[in-house]
Amino acid sequence: MTLTKIFCAAVAGLGLSAVQAADLAATFDHAGLSKRLGASCAVQEMQRRAAIIPVTSGLDPAPEYRTKGLTYVMQSAHFDAKMHARADKIYATIPHHTRALTYNDGGVFVWSRYGLAESLPSRKNAANGYTTPGLYLEYERRLYFPFMLADVRKNKNGTYRSIGFYEEPARGVRIANHETGHMVDDILGNYSFEQSGTRAEGRLTDRRDYRTAIADDLRHIRGTKPDVVALDYYMPIRIGGKQDEGQRLRREVFAELWAEASGQGGSNLSRHYPRAYGVVKSYFDYLKSVYEAGGSACDYRKDGRAVPVLKR
Ligand SMILES: [Zn+2]
Repeated sequence: MTLTKIFCAAVAGLGLSAVQAADLAATFDHAGLSKRLGASCAVQEMQRRAAIIPVTSGLDPAPEYRTKGLTYVMQSAHFDAKMHARADKIYATIPHHTRALTYNDGGVFVWSRYGLAESLPSRKNAANGYTTPGLYLEYERRLYFPFMLADVRKNKNGTYRSIGFYEEPARGVRIANHETGHMVDDILGNYSFEQSGTRAEGRLTDRRDYRTAIADDLRHIRGTKPDVVALDYYMPIRIGGKQDEGQRLRREVFAELWAEASGQGGSNLSRHYPRAYGVVKSYFDYLKSVYEAGGSACDYRKDGRAVPVLKR
């Protein structure tokens, strides 16, 4: 079978019709993406090595969190056995096709115990070093996910100190998948072409189909003024939310809808952004179809090795 035929056979099992999927494939570097995910596991390790953005700064992140070879998932030296087990469970909730993409394109997952301040010491100077539940840094293609957060007090010298860390296990899986959404926005965006055939700005959230869909949803939200207290982080300021209506809002909504497409829809944000969700889900299904049509079956280990999965 040709690659296109294999691809159409694979999408037949998904929500997309073959026509929709083919349309979407035309707006991505479909051949490049297929080749990358279809390479042997050994070649995928080489692809990863070339894609990793070395993080070597002495200030940010902490020395133990600097780039280490192929390492894919870094875990805190302060984790206890329970936390290691929980990390494994959370890692397993990230869909395999998402892992395949982020692995190959040099994504790194950094899981700390004591807030972001543990892995990013410069954040000790800000309250958010202790209170932010997750962070994706595009310039180093790293996702930071702290297992514990803290209430803070400001020190006289302007730094902050925690006054008691606490765990929020119920939100962890959703937040890890939300941050992964930011990583996908960045990485899959690099394979995206605008409908005109020219390179997009580099993020999925800059694509015309997503921008049109979220603009329609926002028009409806402004008209109906839903109660947004619980979801204010994903809502525009003018109706009582927390985000300016620009790139920031587009990206936060995308990340949360990606988590929902990944099966972690705890916030049910799609009820306010049904059109944007439809587009995000189409990207999710597209990536899945590319992987299922020709992706190599590799086990992406935390140490960064890609080990062939033996078929029975
Ligand atoms: Zn976010």
